[in-house]
Formats: sequence, structure tokens, C-alpha cells
Amino acid sequence: MKILGTTKIVGVIGYPIKHTYSPIMMNAAFEHLGLDYVYLPFQVKPEKLKEAIFGLVALGIKGVNVTIPHKETVIPFLDTISDEAKLIGAVNTIKVEEDGSLSGYNTDGIGFIEALEQELSYSICGTEIFVLGAGGASRAVSVMLALKGAKKVYISDIIPEKAIKLVEDINTKIKPVAEFIQADFSLTSKMSETIKKVDLLVNATPIGMNPEDPCLFSEEVFHPRLKIFDLVYNPAETKLIKVAKEKGCSATNGIGMLIKQGIHSFKIWTGVQAPEDVMRAALKRLISF
Ligand code: NAP
Repeated sequence: MKILGTTKIVGVIGYPIKHTYSPIMMNAAFEHLGLDYVYLPFQVKPEKLKEAIFGLVALGIKGVNVTIPHKETVIPFLDTISDEAKLIGAVNTIKVEEDGSLSGYNTDGIGFIEALEQELSYSICGTEIFVLGAGGASRAVSVMLALKGAKKVYISDIIPEKAIKLVEDINTKIKPVAEFIQADFSLTSKMSETIKKVDLLVNATPIGMNPEDPCLFSEEVFHPRLKIFDLVYNPAETKLIKVAKEKGCSATNGIGMLIKQGIHSFKIWTGVQAPEDVMRAALKRLISF
């Protein structure tokens, strides 16, 4: 890849950021299409977020993806927010417009839906789903599940207030399908009982990113009909995925979603359709999945 005086810069902001695979797949796509862009990781501490966002305009950066922990806190610094990002309450893509104004989008939601269909052949309409976590990614996932006709969406977070707020938002802004479940991992808990009757289990917490992290769920909850979508993509096989597969369940990690949401962000910045196969091949050269 040649970096010239004309090269346009995009990237990703987060804290920490060393886990990200986005530069690999995005730069492979730019190179394949011969676009004069480069994609860089930026580590931005929460207390520096405001300066970082205004710095995008000052430095002539064309746009960024936004990851943990900034997806919700970045919103007050933006000039316009897409309807979908507003409904979700989180932004994962910022475009710096020609006049220097900042537009916020959310491509996680559509990325999740497309990956769910592609990786697990899952059709949401009329099904019951359990979502663990109520942060930025969960907001995108849960809102899309409600919009796409889920019969019931159970949401649980270690901070109950976050899950309760997300449930309230879905039930008032979209339709009354969401229910709060206390995050309690004991076998006799309502959470385990609930998972036993759902069709899809989504991990939207960062648990699994650290190889020492536990599976999170007791083996009894993995019934044969259950499908598992773990949003974590690094490592490619979390303990949750491993145990689920051992119990005979279909399970996928977050790589498909990473690619799909990246394709939508790419289009927002460049107006061009990103090459999915090239992005997938670039990731495969780095990790096995
Ligand atoms: P986040 O904003 O930090 O939200 C995660 C939420 O889960 C937080 O509220 C967190 O609480 C909660 N939580 C942590 N441990 C929990 C537990 N044991 N039980 C219940 N809740 C728990 O993070 P995020 O931005 O939503 O991202 C979540 C994960 O999704 C990350 O691993 C991220 O990399 C992944 N992700 C993947 C994609 C993709 O394309 N594949 C896209 C977006 C996100 P605390 O705040 O107290 O920790």
C-alpha cells in the first residue's frame, strides 16, 4: 500500500484498540479497489474523546468507526445522527462531511442481521431471543431484533439499570416485545430457565475477549434447538462457542458481523461497495475461523 500526500485517512477509535481487526480487512479492500485511502487504529481514552472527535475535523480525517467504550458517549459531539442510530442510541460510524460537520450512523444493527442470516440461516420473525449485555452493541442487536419481528427479546446486563433502560426504549419506541432478566448465572435462576426456552442466544458483552474468560452459561442451557451468536470476534473461538459446539448447537462468532458492518461503513465513507470476499480472505490470513 502506497501512502501519498493525497491519501485519505479513515480509522477506528476505541479504548483499548489493540484487539481490532478492522484495519486488516479495510486496508485489503482499499488496496484491492485501488482507492487512495488508509485505515488506522486510534487509541482514545474516554476523557480525551471530545478532543479526539474535534481533532478529526482539524486533521482532515474522512471518518472513523467507533468501538468500546465510545459508541453512546460520542453522540453529543455529532451534528446529525441517522434515524437508525437515533433509535439504537449508539453510533459506530462517523463521517466527516465536506463542510466539516459530523454525521453519525450505526451499521452494527444491519451488520448483525445480515451475518445472522448468512452464518446461522436464522429467520427472526416469531422467535424468542436472549441477549446478554445492554451496551452499544446490544442496543443495535436488540433494536433490530424488535424491528425484524422477534416474538420476545429477553435482555440482561450486569448493570440492571442499563438493561431496564434498553427494554423501556424498545417497548416504547418500537413494540412491546422486550423483557428484563436479572443477570444471575446460578442454575436455578430465571436467566437459565429463560435460555432453555429461547431459539437464539446472543453474547453482546466483551466476555470472551480474554482467553481466561468463562463460558458464562451452565452446560444445561444448551438445548439442541438453540443457536448461538457471540459478537466477540477475537479470539475466533470463545469458550461460549466451544461449549455450544460440543453440545451440538450451531454457533457463530462476530467475524461475519464485523465484515458486514464494515461493508456498510466503507460505503458511507467512499460511496463504493466493498469486496466482501477480499475482506474475508484478509482476515483468514490472520486468524483461522
Ligand atoms: P459495552 O458498551 O462495554 O457493553 C457491554 C455491556 O455488557 C456492558 O454494559 C457491560 O457492563 C456488560 N457486561 C459485561 N460483563 C457482563 C456479564 N458477565 N453479564 C452481563 N453483562 C455484562 O461494549 P459493546 O460496544 O456493546 O461491545 C460488546 C462486545 O461486542 C465486544 O466484545 C465487542 O468487541 C463486540 N462487538 C462486535 C462487533 C462485531 O462486528 N462483531 C460489533 C460491535 C461490538 P460493564 O460496563 O459493567 O462492563
